[in-house]
Amino acid sequence: MPCPAQMLGFTTPIRLARVIFGGRTFRSYINPPREAHSTALPLSQHVFASNRRTEPHPHSCDNTARMPPQFTPRTLKTFQRRLLAWFRAHQRDLPWRSSRDPYRIWVAEIMLQQTRIAAVLPYYRRFLKTFPTVESLARAPQEKVLQLWSGLGYYSRARNLHRAAKEIASSHAGEFPRTLEAALALPGIGSYTAAAVLSIAYDQPLAVLDGNVARVLARLGAIRGDLRAPARWRQLAASAQSYLALTAPGDWNQALMELGETICTPRIPRCGVCPVSRWCLARARGLTREIPAPRRKRAPVRIRIAAAILRDPRGRTILVRDPGAHDDVLFSRMWQFPAVEVARHPEAELATHLHDILKIDRASLHLEPLPSARHGVTFRNITLLPFLARVPRLPKRPRTRVLLLSRLAQLPASSATHKIAAALARR
Ligand code: SF4
Repeated sequence: MPCPAQMLGFTTPIRLARVIFGGRTFRSYINPPREAHSTALPLSQHVFASNRRTEPHPHSCDNTARMPPQFTPRTLKTFQRRLLAWFRAHQRDLPWRSSRDPYRIWVAEIMLQQTRIAAVLPYYRRFLKTFPTVESLARAPQEKVLQLWSGLGYYSRARNLHRAAKEIASSHAGEFPRTLEAALALPGIGSYTAAAVLSIAYDQPLAVLDGNVARVLARLGAIRGDLRAPARWRQLAASAQSYLALTAPGDWNQALMELGETICTPRIPRCGVCPVSRWCLARARGLTREIPAPRRKRAPVRIRIAAAILRDPRGRTILVRDPGAHDDVLFSRMWQFPAVEVARHPEAELATHLHDILKIDRASLHLEPLPSARHGVTFRNITLLPFLARVPRLPKRPRTRVLLLSRLAQLPASSATHKIAAALARR
């Protein structure tokens, strides 16, 4: 059979393996362990080298050569047929599934990273309505792209998506690349996203591995321990490739994701309705609640951020950009109210900050406290402490923007900024 590595534009499977595990980080297999790429065995040693021991042709990529332990070639095919049939009958009706347009699939995969489907749906529809093609996205100003992303979080995804769209428009004639190597060269596209788009849009034989798929595979194979540990993640990556149904790689990848999202869920998997339960080693051994092992969470850090809504008599306010240590994490380098992390005396510390960045006279400043708001960013528990300051006129400084408070929604701003603005209405 033709070798998938060659179908993907690589001269040998080793070259493909180097791109997947060697030359690039492995990061987009949704938050894999950071160091995984540095110590990973090349795929050739997991899949292709195994083939060399069992197949006469060194470039053969028949993935049954490294069989999951509970399968024979025949039962593996039955397992694949069963899961594919279940997926085709029961898959959820999601907008990115109605098309094999790589652009639409790519946008969905980027939005879905670390974000729930329900949260993504309205953003996805709005984004595709505004930018129906990769060319329309490439032509758009970054500010418009960020505005449509506002509230979805992880804004580097939007910035990279925009940069990659420009590259596709200028260097790939507006078509998402068909080779893994070219896809991985685009900004913001790691192995997970490349495998998802190439398999779903172009039927490329590449298995995806994200948190959901890892959990399903770990349970199927009764793989214990921390799934994010580099060695275990490599084991799961090899396992994902060996399970892959080469006749329908796109559907296969989506079927595993769907199974993880709807049935083989993290806490209480619904094994009674699972289409592949008869092949599941965790179920057979009574380990479904122990796999995966709970992850050690980073201890939460409490942070207090004081922010000033300056308002002039015309109802206008001033926004700033990149002014402090929290702009990246909390405000994502977008327009925000002047803000600073505070310790004991929020009002006084904020007044000092306003003097430092906007040259506002502390003596004439009256800061009226507004209702506080909670905001979580990964391990950070942030308390937002908004203050209203009425000023006769707004300062004129570089890298600032003056606008009516009612127009805030028209600018790209993080949800923390919107929470601060909402405090005005709650006072
Ligand atoms: S039998 Fe249960 S644990 Fe095993 S794959 Fe199915 S849902 Fe997951």
